[in-house]
Amino acid sequence: MAPSDAELALRLPAYATRVVSLLEAAGYEAWVVGGWVRDALLGSSGHDVDVTTSAPWQETERVLRAARVEVHETGVAHGTVTAVIGHEPVEVTTYRVEGAYSDLRHPDEVRFVTDVREDLARRDFTVNAMAWHPERGLLDPYGGREDLSRGLIRAVGDPSSRFGEDALRTLRAVRFACRLGFSIEPSTQEALVACAPGLDHIARERVGIELDGIMGSGHMAWALRNEFEVVSRALPDLVPMAGFDQRTPYHTHDVLEHTARVCAGVEEYCGGVTPQQLRWAALLHDIGKPSCWSQDDDGRGHFYGHPKVSADMARRILGELALPKDLIAEVCALILFHDRGVWPAARSVRTVLAKLDERCPGRGEPLAFQLIDLKRADALAKAPGCAAYAVELDAVTIALRQEVSRGATFRVSDLAVSGGDVIRECGIAPGPAVGERLRGLLARVVDDELPNDREVLLAALRR
Ligand code: ATP
Ligand code: MG
Repeated sequence: MAPSDAELALRLPAYATRVVSLLEAAGYEAWVVGGWVRDALLGSSGHDVDVTTSAPWQETERVLRAARVEVHETGVAHGTVTAVIGHEPVEVTTYRVEGAYSDLRHPDEVRFVTDVREDLARRDFTVNAMAWHPERGLLDPYGGREDLSRGLIRAVGDPSSRFGEDALRTLRAVRFACRLGFSIEPSTQEALVACAPGLDHIARERVGIELDGIMGSGHMAWALRNEFEVVSRALPDLVPMAGFDQRTPYHTHDVLEHTARVCAGVEEYCGGVTPQQLRWAALLHDIGKPSCWSQDDDGRGHFYGHPKVSADMARRILGELALPKDLIAEVCALILFHDRGVWPAARSVRTVLAKLDERCPGRGEPLAFQLIDLKRADALAKAPGCAAYAVELDAVTIALRQEVSRGATFRVSDLAVSGGDVIRECGIAPGPAVGERLRGLLARVVDDELPNDREVLLAALRR
């Protein structure tokens, strides 16, 4: 059952109540809006608090500063300032509406208004268009509370015109459906499909934020199966995966359904706390397959080189979406090695650790465990005959744990010799050649050709 107003009042953090009270004591009106109200009505009150107010932003700033509240001008062009009380931020925005969107992405003008209802009307979905006040209670002109209880994402107003104004809302609808586990109301759904092409005109980094949000929900598999028109418009490189018949005995599904199964698989193995890089790797691990496909004389399909092609495509796609560089490097490393054989043997798992750490320094260990989860999900999403490899991967996990706990050598810094030793023993000057020698030694230690013993390694350097 949804919490009562009294329960919500208890949940609203004191710093947010203070912002609302200060503005109202100065003669303005203020409400809590958006995500906090939505999530609090769903029973979780961890969301940041956004406040909307009749006060012009300069007045908000003046009133709060007079009460010794720290205020930052975080988006004054849109009427937003951020109050910070005891390290907790509260975004405070003046009631506003948006003018026409002639370029389908930026409103031509932002107009400040005096009625909170007008501000709610510009918001995207009914569940996001509620305002709440500790004494006045809920203001819900679009039936957001009812939609929350029925689990529905519904556009505020006419869906086609709302998605026509700002096509990013199509992707936001999918993100909220994924995050909340909601369905999309039928006329909103119809408009989503019709308006998804507008995503072509949206800045890639805004698309990136929403896609990363869908990823973060852990329900990308649902989005691929139910909202492919929207997701593939946001990520056009996914299009050739749909219906791509692999024509190999290793695969029962087309590339898209295989990918959806891998996305679902990594969630299952990580109990819902799947690392974001593993999620992206699951989505993109086979994205290069359609372009690598070839057929042999027996009519059998092959995808030679697809891990490298997929990793290169992922690097380009995620770079365009402006996702963090470290994340991109890790996603690409996982994709590059996803199809490489790994066995339950110390040498094999050490090689994986070394290769991953070389690409992503300091990250070899967590990535190796993620790679096994990716490979397990991949194996189980192929033809039934491939499932046995998933069982073998459990043994690989054990071998990996053993190697890690016995302090395996897989980084140059783990070697019993250092750069100084190389310079002295080999008589070479400091420079890139030193690192090369060390990496050469590391490869032989990883390969069990040499023990990680100082005397043995010094002797090897001298030879
Ligand atoms: P989240 O937890 O994902 O941040 P949120 O509700 O806070 O959820 P935001 O993207 O931060 O979502 O946006 C804050 C509020 O601003 C939304 O609840 C919605 O009312 C409004 N909003 C944000 N983006 C748009 C948009 N493109 N069109 C219309 N309204 C929007
Ligand atoms: Mg937010």
